[in-house]
Parts: sequence; C-alpha cells; structure tokens
Amino acid sequence: DLWQGIDFSRSKAEARVDGSTGVKFSDVAGIDEAVEELQELVRYLKNPELFDKIGIKPPHGVLLEGPPGCGKTLVAKAIAGEAGVPFYQMAGSEFVEVLVGVGSARIRDLFKRAKVNKPSVIFIDEIDALATRRQGIFKESTDLLYNAATQERETTLNQLLIELDGFDTGKGVIFLAATNRRDLLDPALLRPGRFDRKIKICPPGAKGRLDILKIHASKVKMSDSVDLSIYSQNLPGWSGAKLAQLVQEAALVAVRKGHESIVQSDMDDAVDRLTVGPRRIGIELGHHGQCRRATTEMGVAITSHLLRRYESAKVECCDRISIIPRGQTLSQVVFRRLDDESYMFERRPQLLHRLQVFLGGRAAEEVIYGRDTSKASVNYLADASWLARKILTIWNLENPMVIHGEPPPWRKKVKFVGPRLDFEGSLYDDYDLTEPPLNFKLDDEVARRTEELVRDMYDRTLAMLQRHHAALLKAVKVLISQEEISGEEIDFILDNYPPETPISVLL
Ligand code: ADP
Repeated sequence: DLWQGIDFSRSKAEARVDGSTGVKFSDVAGIDEAVEELQELVRYLKNPELFDKIGIKPPHGVLLEGPPGCGKTLVAKAIAGEAGVPFYQMAGSEFVEVLVGVGSARIRDLFKRAKVNKPSVIFIDEIDALATRRQGIFKESTDLLYNAATQERETTLNQLLIELDGFDTGKGVIFLAATNRRDLLDPALLRPGRFDRKIKICPPGAKGRLDILKIHASKVKMSDSVDLSIYSQNLPGWSGAKLAQLVQEAALVAVRKGHESIVQSDMDDAVDRLTVGPRRIGIELGHHGQCRRATTEMGVAITSHLLRRYESAKVECCDRISIIPRGQTLSQVVFRRLDDESYMFERRPQLLHRLQVFLGGRAAEEVIYGRDTSKASVNYLADASWLARKILTIWNLENPMVIHGEPPPWRKKVKFVGPRLDFEGSLYDDYDLTEPPLNFKLDDEVARRTEELVRDMYDRTLAMLQRHHAALLKAVKVLISQEEISGEEIDFILDNYPPETPISVLL
C-alpha cells in the first residue's frame, strides 16, 4: 500500500513544548481596541474554573477579521502567550486535501489535542480557504477531481461545525480564526453559538504605525538619532508586517554599509527599496540627463521650502531627494506629509501653493537653462494643469463660475475621491488623476481661465526662483555630486545663499 505508514489524519499543528508562544500584548500595537476586547479571553484561559463557578460562558469562537499583515496571528499568539497556554495553529488551506476524509480527520485531531492540553488556544489562519460558502445541493460537474475536492471541503467544514457545537464539553479551549474575506465564509459558521465574537483588526493609523515601529526598532540596534515619526507620518496604509519588514531591511542596509547601528539614511534607503525597488544598475544617466533631472526635482523641492519660509504656506516640505534610479523611476522626491486634517480641509491658498510647487520643476529649468527647457519637467506640468482645472471647476475655488446647463459630460465621469481619513500610496493620491475622456468639450471659459491661472502661478514661481537662483544652483550642484540631499541640507543652503546672492559667489 502506497500510503502505508503515513498518517494523514494528524494535524501538523504542534504546540511548543514549553506551552507558550512567548508573544505578549506588549509586542502588539496599533490595534488597542481589539487587544482590550481580547484581554477577557486571557483572564478566562488563566482560570477557566472560576468562570465556570460564577457561570460566565466563555465565547465559543472568535473571528479576527482584517487585511493581511495587521497582526491577527500576532494577537492570537499573544493571547496564548499572556495566558501561558499551548497554541495550536494551522492554516485553512492545510485542511483542504483531495483525499477523502483527511481534512475532517485533521480537524478532529486538532481539537482533540487542544482539549487534552487545555487550557489552550486553537488558531486557524485564513479560515476562508476551508470554510467557503457551501454549494447546498451538491452541483454535479463533469470534472471528477473538482467534485471530489468540493465534497471533501464541505465534509471538513461540517466537521468543524460539529467540533464548535460540541465545545461545551471541551471547556478551557479558545477557538480563534482569521480571515480577510468574511464575505466568502459559509453563513452557518457565523451563526450565534459558533463565532460569537467578531473582532476587526484594522490597519494602523499614524500613531499606531509609530508604536509598531518603536516595538520593532527596540529589537534591533537603532541609533537614537533616527526620528521614527517621519516614517509613521509618511507611510500611510502600511501594515504592521510591512513596518516590521522596513526595520529588518534597514538593519540589512546598515550591516551592508558597515554601520554600528541603524541610522536615518539606512531607514531612508530601506523605504526606497520597499517602495520603488533597489538601485537599478545599468541605467545610469549621463551627466546631461542627471543635471536636468536634478534641476527639475530640486525646483519642486526648493519651491516648497521657499513658500513655507516666506509665505507661511501650508505645503509639504521636502524630506529628501534622490537621483539614484530605482525600479521604474529615475529619481524621487520624498515630501513630509502634513497631518490628515490639513488634507481634509484644504483651502484655496494651500492649493494654489501646491500648484506653484508643481510648477517649480519647469521654472527651475528656465532659471538655469533659459528657454532651453526639456521634457524632464513635463509630468509636473501635467499635474499642475490638472490641479488648476480642478480648482476652477470641481472645487470652484476661484471666482465662482457658473457652468451653464448640464454638467459637462466629463464631470460625471470624474470619480471625485473625497478626503479620506487614512491615505494610501503617494502624496497626491487624494487627487484622482484619472484623465477625463479625450473628446470632452471643455468650456472655452474653463480652458482660458485654467491657462490664466497656471501662467499667473508660473510667473510667480519663476520670479521667486530667480531671486533665489544662487541657492538653487548650489543645491542642484550638491544633489548631483551626492546623488542624494536631505531637507535639512536644502534649508542650510537657503540660509547661506540668501535672495539675490551674486552668482559669482558660487564660481
Ligand atoms: P496577519 O495574521 O494579520 O496576516 P501577522 O500577525 O502574521 O498578520 O503579522 C506579521 C508580522 O508583522 C508580525 O509577526 C509582526 O512582526 C508584524 N506585525 C503585524 N501587525 C502588527 C502589530 N499590530 N503590532 C506589531 N507588529 C505587527
């Protein structure tokens, strides 16, 4: 017999011998409400008899629901760790086998072992793999293998339901499961008496991200000079897993560079690696290309610094610029995000300042190269026109404009992404940059006024950069020679090359 000697029915979950996962709630951050709710399970696991005596029924099953990497497994382990009880973990997919009866046998085995070693915790990750909605009457398909697999999964799910229903006899065992697709789950599983608790594990907000970074930073050697708040603020949408990976990556970079501990530039490098990719070898720009690239990027960055300095503009300041090609991009400007509220209630002056920032790329080219401008700044120009059009039309923030008759057809097509509490992706995500269809009939008036607005803002930006041409030139030179420059360095240059510095100072 081919299968002789192989016991398929045993679940692969092995609790650690010492009965503890070693994970504590202090290892978890950013999901305080969930942790608060789960404390009760720990109290129960520590003393199930007491709950019995008083007559409190422990929850049957707890469903942790949320996107990947936000700490579902971690928090489940922490429950077992805090209570000091064995932890039996399996993934839903491990129950799904084509061999008849194997899945349900594994379920039985898992619950049996957890009961023998009670109090204990069972955790099934990605339960959706095993507990997708049953088909009801078994649909006949011509694919025999498909039929067998579906039937087998349903048998396994039935076994799970039986175990959950018979839980009263197995007091002292807490059953936890995780999913990011609750909509796929079989409704029978969600009925009262099965999962009576459903807890959402949400992606962390800015404060949560900072706390998570602190936890992971404490596990490596990180220099005190590293300001973690920059990263929590600048990486919206990042999960705990991604933040943990960031710290690991930074540690690797530090080792590679021979640093004693992780410094700020290692963290920056790690962010770039995880977002745009590692340095791309083989597409080094020539000197000419590098100069253009550095000029446009510096134009954008320095415009934001100048506007903040002299006009108290509420625009993002530049954290750093890199002209190292990575992944798909030749260069990157990283801006420091403002607080979320600033984005929610952006006002006209703020938006006009941002328009100027976009236009800074082309204006810097004009300051340095005269009319010999290039395509290097064309993307920023496109961003600028789009923003100007939105200021005039959708937001109607310039002299209110009556748009006659029906709203223009493209207006209906534009998906207006309103302010969001947590932003995903890059800085300008909250502007939906979907282009309206090319054949849209933009009112002549809108076209004329867009041009007027862009031109006006461009002239202002150009005049400002001309006054500060010495600082601009110096900063571009530094960027080209170092390939990277920080926001502080830009500020330092601005301090030392005040407006109208004669260009001869530089030569
Ligand atoms: P999930 O089960 O939700 O997919 P995990 O719990 O497996 O996510 O997270 C993977 C790793 O990411 C964890 O081991 C931990 O290092 C880190 N992590 C995720 N979320 C958090 C969090 N909220 N606090 C601290 N670390 C976290």
